[in-house]
Amino acid sequence: MNFMTFSDLGLSSAIVKAVDEKGYTKPSPIQEKAIPHILNRKDILASAQTGTGKTAGFTLPVLQYLSETKHIKYRPLRALVLTPTRELAAQVYDNIREYSKYVNIKSAVIFGGVNAKPQIATLKKGVDILVATPGRLLDLHDRKALSFKRIDVLILDEADRMLDMGFVRDINKIISFMPDKRQNLMFSATFSDDIKKLASGILKNPVSVATAPQNSTAKKVTHKVYKVDKKKKTAFTIKLVKENNWNQVLIFTRTKHGANKLTKKLIQAGVSSAAIHGNKSQGARTKALKNFKDNSIKILVATDIAARGLDIPLLPHVINFELPNVPEDYVHRIGRTGRAGAAGEAISLVCSEESEYQSEIEKLLKEKLNSTIVAGFEPTDTAPPKRAASQSKGSFSKKNKSRNSISSKGSKSKKPLHSHKNKSAVTAQGSGRSGRVKKKRY
Ligand code: AMP
Repeated sequence: MNFMTFSDLGLSSAIVKAVDEKGYTKPSPIQEKAIPHILNRKDILASAQTGTGKTAGFTLPVLQYLSETKHIKYRPLRALVLTPTRELAAQVYDNIREYSKYVNIKSAVIFGGVNAKPQIATLKKGVDILVATPGRLLDLHDRKALSFKRIDVLILDEADRMLDMGFVRDINKIISFMPDKRQNLMFSATFSDDIKKLASGILKNPVSVATAPQNSTAKKVTHKVYKVDKKKKTAFTIKLVKENNWNQVLIFTRTKHGANKLTKKLIQAGVSSAAIHGNKSQGARTKALKNFKDNSIKILVATDIAARGLDIPLLPHVINFELPNVPEDYVHRIGRTGRAGAAGEAISLVCSEESEYQSEIEKLLKEKLNSTIVAGFEPTDTAPPKRAASQSKGSFSKKNKSRNSISSKGSKSKKPLHSHKNKSAVTAQGSGRSGRVKKKRY
């Protein structure tokens, strides 16, 4: 047989040993493509979703570099991984610890929502590679708990989500404290103009690495749309889960309130569930994720941001209780299923208001989603469609436009959460901590 091994990519025996213990038999496509360039100290712009093995893709070569160039006497911070969410930070850190088992490299993770004192104490002892969310990182930098002066490698993980969450000013501020000469690795699942702009400001002659066509979804995922009235979605979800005996389903709602409401109804119907979103404490989020992963609960109901980057292996079903108004979010959502080459099912419950969201998603995927109507749940809603975030006014029919504006009157959540228009507003306002515009927590 003639396939690449981790050693063929130039990784040392200490790194390969740790990877072997994880049970990886061969590099994933993103690892095969990115690792040799990263070892060659190139900047990288990688298009990769969660589930592709991207974390090992950047961690393994960076750990090798750090261990080979280590300062004998002390450990200044030399590599920084920035992530948008606490969950992703914790997950990346777990991976780093496992992969660095046989090299003398110290790692740590810091994020907000928990006590800063233990984090400061850890940083004081010396850390080679740090995983962090931008807000807490800057807080601790202000408090002189760490320095960016010796940063040699900067990794931006899920850069698109960091932009969506308004972290661009924080990122630029963090970078302003770093030496110019350093390696930069940027990973993103989607490539908007804003991402390209951010990349061009940070990366130097980057090598582009892509494993799947831009904005495409995993190949083995089947998409299914059920046309169903808005008020019948809960009953329909319960029916789907119960009749199919599904044991591990990730359900997306558009709002935190919607996630709580659905979770309550599922529990009342005897389906074990938990919600995960930005209003939940870190403890509750960690517990919900753990229970979901070890099958103590069947359903995890999540908002888009909370679910970003969650590593839930071989998730068989994802349900979009509501379609996202930003079509790229659909790609992110269903990135949770069909992972590591396994088959997965992405189910969307679509009511009349969401028909335009569906069209925009189909345009992005370049694929029609099969729609089904189930007996007993035949749609009767006649509410007009809402405009998707990607639709310019001109691309929406006049009739719909006026209807839409009437229907959005008096509603506080009608504005797209991260439309492209909003994105630039977020970008301009940024998110520095002094006078920071409060970030949305989904
Ligand atoms: P990531 O995309 O980094 O979130 O990784 C997704 C999952 O794939 C994680 O559970 C990893 O442990 C796993 N993984 C990473 N690389 C490999 C590999 N080469 N072979 C098998 N599994 C892998």
